[in-house]
Amino acid sequence: MLKGKAAIVTGSTSGIGRGIAHALAGQGVNIMLNGFADAATVDTVKGEITKFGVKVEYNAADVTKPDQIAAMVDATVKAFGSCDVVVNNAGIQFVAPIDKFPLDKWDAVIATNLSSAFYSTRYVLPIMRGKKWGRIINIASAHGLVASEDKVAYVSAKHGIVGMTKVTALETAGSGITCNSICPGWVLTPLVQKQIDAMAAEDKLSEDQAKLKLLSEKQPSKQFVTPEQIGGLVVFLCSDAADQITGAHLSIDGGWTAQ
Ligand code: NAD
Repeated sequence: MLKGKAAIVTGSTSGIGRGIAHALAGQGVNIMLNGFADAATVDTVKGEITKFGVKVEYNAADVTKPDQIAAMVDATVKAFGSCDVVVNNAGIQFVAPIDKFPLDKWDAVIATNLSSAFYSTRYVLPIMRGKKWGRIINIASAHGLVASEDKVAYVSAKHGIVGMTKVTALETAGSGITCNSICPGWVLTPLVQKQIDAMAAEDKLSEDQAKLKLLSEKQPSKQFVTPEQIGGLVVFLCSDAADQITGAHLSIDGGWTAQ
């Protein structure tokens, strides 16, 4: 059903985005990869996607720059003839208490995790409206629904993207376009590995002890969510069965936000 459609997955050179790109490619979707990465990594990820028999391109857009996002949307249409699915996934984290939170880090987290999704949604909607079909999927977080200390910019951006999702859903309702956010709990990616390393150093723990401590604090399953599981949810949201799911936030968090 998705065969031959085209998707942009921002931040797909790593972690969750890479898993989402794999899952969509597995359904026959042509993929525009994006993210900061060296040439060797880009080649590796391109090779992984090519194995699914779909077309793949890479665009180096910095998602904090609206003109670069517009150019990436244009490049996607040029390469694949359309832009049917956009997964706003690129994200960064910075951890510090509010009164010590560096101003430039606030700006960077808001630009990367929130404004980027506004830019891509703004540029892609006319294309999706023309096709009377589209899927915009925003990768929020459990931190889009609940807070943790020391993550003021991240929590603000993720709550913001859950709200942006609802506005997008209302403005597109009944048009064949849906917009939803996915709210993962802990996923073992480079973004979280940094937090595990910091916890291990600070609390003098082994890596395994730090992982268990991190999970135990928030995620009742005490198991990491995987990029493959999030990819599976993205594929479902792109299916006909999800036609009437719009403006929703779907948790995939081992019980984190059930507490
Ligand atoms: P990651 O660090 O493995 O990957 C982040 C990706 O975003 C990379 O490809 C990176 O190059 C890209 N990126 C960062 N800034 C960019 C920019 N300005 N322009 C273009 N690309 C940029 O992180 P991840 O854990 O895979 O996170 C992906 C998304 O999932 C993020 O939005 C994150 O907030 C969210 N998330 C992660 C977890 C988790 O536990 N890992 C949980 C909930 C939500």
